[in-house]
Amino acid sequence: MSTPGFPRPLPSLDGDSARYWKALGEGRIELPRCVECARLVFYPRPFCPACHSDHLAWEEISGAGRVYTFSVVHRATHPWFMDKTPYVYAVVELQAGVRLPTTVVECEPSAVRVGLRVEPVFEAADEGVTLLFFRPARR
Ligand SMILES: [Zn+2]
Repeated sequence: MSTPGFPRPLPSLDGDSARYWKALGEGRIELPRCVECARLVFYPRPFCPACHSDHLAWEEISGAGRVYTFSVVHRATHPWFMDKTPYVYAVVELQAGVRLPTTVVECEPSAVRVGLRVEPVFEAADEGVTLLFFRPARR
């Protein structure tokens, strides 16, 4: 469901993040890892933010993680989200070692806690875009 007249804001699928978005569309999370210092790089970019090397190699990572921090959004900042409130905007820390901004779905906002174990949800949105959300872990 969406607010009439306001398309859902979506990312562009080109440039340095194209492979990330393509993998999400296939139900996987892929990120570049720095070959020089082994740091996982999120968001995807053409160099390592730690050592500035451009020697990166993409790899699939697990979507298992925990809620690092979160906020319950009651007032939408974009018209498309007006009928989605309240929802949980969160930063999830993956076991692989990166923190991603996201939304926690498939649970009441009051059930979300810092440290909650989560698993990925791949949501096919409009225009061929797949978005990455998280829900409480079922296992
Ligand atoms: Zn590096």
